[in-house]
Amino acid sequence: MTGRPRRSASPKAPAAGPVLLDWRDSSHWSSQPKPCRYCGHATQLRDSRRKPAHKSCAEDALAQQAADAADAYRKDTL
Ligand SMILES: [Zn+2]
Repeated sequence: MTGRPRRSASPKAPAAGPVLLDWRDSSHWSSQPKPCRYCGHATQLRDSRRKPAHKSCAEDALAQQAADAADAYRKDTL
């Protein structure tokens, strides 16, 4: 006996891997450059809410959100 509880049906936390967005659609493009909502540098790209954002900045933000959510999930279940 090791005293360690068996965890047979433990759900897996979402993996915080790289997030890749598909912004090829024209709705993600504007002719007018505006400051990125994340880094502040000018961009002609728009996120899914039509807010100015670089694709790489949005992907970083999404990855961070996923990591934060995974952390919160682990805290909630421990
Ligand atoms: Zn940016």
